[in-house]
Amino acid sequence: MGSAKRLQTEVIAIGTELLLGQVMDTNSSRLGRKLARIGIRLSQITAVGDELHRIVEVLKTGLDRSDILITTGGLGPTEDDLTREAVAAATGQKLAFQPELMKDIEALFKARGFRMTPNNRKQAYIPSGAIAIRNPMGTAPAFIVEDPRGIVISLPGVPRELEYLLDRVVIPYLRKKNRLGRQVILTRVLRVCGLGESGVDRQIGDLIRNSQNPSIGLLASPGDIKISIVCHARSRREAAPLIEGIEKQIRNRLGILVYGVDTETLEAKVAAYLTRLNLRLSVADAFTGGLFCHRILGTGTRRFAQGFVLPSRRAQMSFLRLPAKAFSSLVKNQEIYAVTLAKNTLEHADVGLAVTSDFKGSDGELRGTLAIAIAERGKEQSQSWKIGGTREGLTQRAAIIALDALRRYLLGKASVER
Ligand code: ATP
Ligand code: MG
Repeated sequence: MGSAKRLQTEVIAIGTELLLGQVMDTNSSRLGRKLARIGIRLSQITAVGDELHRIVEVLKTGLDRSDILITTGGLGPTEDDLTREAVAAATGQKLAFQPELMKDIEALFKARGFRMTPNNRKQAYIPSGAIAIRNPMGTAPAFIVEDPRGIVISLPGVPRELEYLLDRVVIPYLRKKNRLGRQVILTRVLRVCGLGESGVDRQIGDLIRNSQNPSIGLLASPGDIKISIVCHARSRREAAPLIEGIEKQIRNRLGILVYGVDTETLEAKVAAYLTRLNLRLSVADAFTGGLFCHRILGTGTRRFAQGFVLPSRRAQMSFLRLPAKAFSSLVKNQEIYAVTLAKNTLEHADVGLAVTSDFKGSDGELRGTLAIAIAERGKEQSQSWKIGGTREGLTQRAAIIALDALRRYLLGKASVER
């Protein structure tokens, strides 16, 4: 099939601060994201400190195996900014003074009212034969060296400058150079809840392992799994049906476990169903400290009528207006307790949801039952899980489980209505 030849492209992030953990290498991620949009997928990201021989070594190995190297950082005027020297050494060039670049630098200093120091002259030197990239956002000019082994593109480390030059110069250059305009990478993410990573692997592992183009990958975070389908092709029209074919196969196996696509969230799904079914939601939260409500509120829905955060037994007891004795016998069964709470929220709403738990243990590790109940007038349902973990982890998980339970409940209602 007509997928394009894969250009081997690497990013080399230069700067000792990256190795010391003082600065996060966001430049590489930004490059990865932006290049993917024009069909270039990074094959490697390397971080290297401000040491000339190491930078040269990384550049030389990179040139041996890749078509394009993009460096970030080390273009400044100081002693430890060595990218110019390193690229010149790795490509066998001398550094050559560029009067045009010097003029830009002088103009910038004048405009900003700074006094120039002699070492700023250093920035007007780039490897001989290189294409200069003027940088109106800063003093460090960038450049491109077209070596027979590959292309080296050196960009500044300051993220704002990098982004500016990337959008205006580098991406158009790469498109033109490699006629990449006709290549696309199309991605679709299927979002799954209610099954662990290994569970998903059991269901679709064979598809993942046999996938090439489109390729299938898993990205797991607690309670939420993203299955990405990535297709390289010459056009969207060529890629779309390929992606759809794989999507259909995955959906056939996972069914309602797939709750959404791309950037859709569980809470957005819940909010959409509430609107569609014209229902007002009310919540009694005896465990997540309001996290569940917070997530629903974040959607901006107007269907969320009220939420009660009831972390203490005392608050729960007075919410239910129960005497101590009746209350302690009620909480013996978490599901029945959750149902009672859910029903008691219905005064200004159509659907009530309650989250309760009886987690016990030391602070580090809690264990117990999580129960979720959903009630409408005259009907109710509940479910419980024996789970454990840290308080923080359990809180996050409980909110996800509750959102997913509500999503499925509403999905069921929506399909009956149709
Ligand atoms: P300039 O001369 O414009 O400062 P430069 O190429 O010399 O550019 P560096 O001196 O290496 O850039 O880095 C400048 C700043 O940019 C760093 O202090 C850091 O805050 C940020 N930076 C550098 N590299 C990265 C990176 N890979 N990811 C994110 N930020 C970075
Ligand atoms: Mg630096």
